[in-house]
Amino acid sequence: MPTKQVCPRCGQDWVHPYRFIADGTPFSLCTECDSLWWLGEAVEVAHAKFLDDVVAERLGVEGNPWGDLVWPDVIEPAPDHGA
Ligand SMILES: [Zn+2]
Repeated sequence: MPTKQVCPRCGQDWVHPYRFIADGTPFSLCTECDSLWWLGEAVEVAHAKFLDDVVAERLGVEGNPWGDLVWPDVIEPAPDHGA
């Protein structure tokens, strides 16, 4: 079972289970430094993505995707992965 893990990039927060509201795609997120990991990837700095980049790619926009959006429009906390 996955256990709570401290963000390896900033060390300031736990890595939380989140998902995209649009299609339920799960991922892990550090809400301090916005590092994102896809489920099944090792939560390591080498695999870290930035939430902004992933959201921009999903929305098909360049640069900052948060013009008219806030986090709850796009992502939401998920129950523990695998629960
Ligand atoms: Zn972090």
